[in-house]
Amino acid sequence: MNMTCKIAMDLAELYQADLVSAESAEAIRSHLKTCPACRQYYRTFDAVRRQQPKIDLQPDGVEEMQAKLYADLSRKLRRRRFFEIVGTSAAIGAGSIMLVIGLMMMNHSALLRKEI
Ligand SMILES: [Zn+2]
Repeated sequence: MNMTCKIAMDLAELYQADLVSAESAEAIRSHLKTCPACRQYYRTFDAVRRQQPKIDLQPDGVEEMQAKLYADLSRKLRRRRFFEIVGTSAAIGAGSIMLVIGLMMMNHSALLRKEI
């Protein structure tokens, strides 16, 4: 890859953070070998970066937080599912009771009619 100083400088931050592809890193390294201006730029950039507090792109808590959120969500979904099942069962149960009562009443009135 033919790298210009502009590209090399644009990629400095990503390179320092180890976020470029192996190909880009190689192109940057070979550019730095031949370009004193960029070498100086990268050196300065690195020095500035070292002075800044390290910003962790993937804090330790993230995975834990994701796991917790997922657990919360799945618990909520389970609870909702539970109430759906309970509600459906209750509706079916109530319907069955109504049906039985209805049949009993029909039977009862039939018996009454026979007695008459
Ligand atoms: Zn250069």
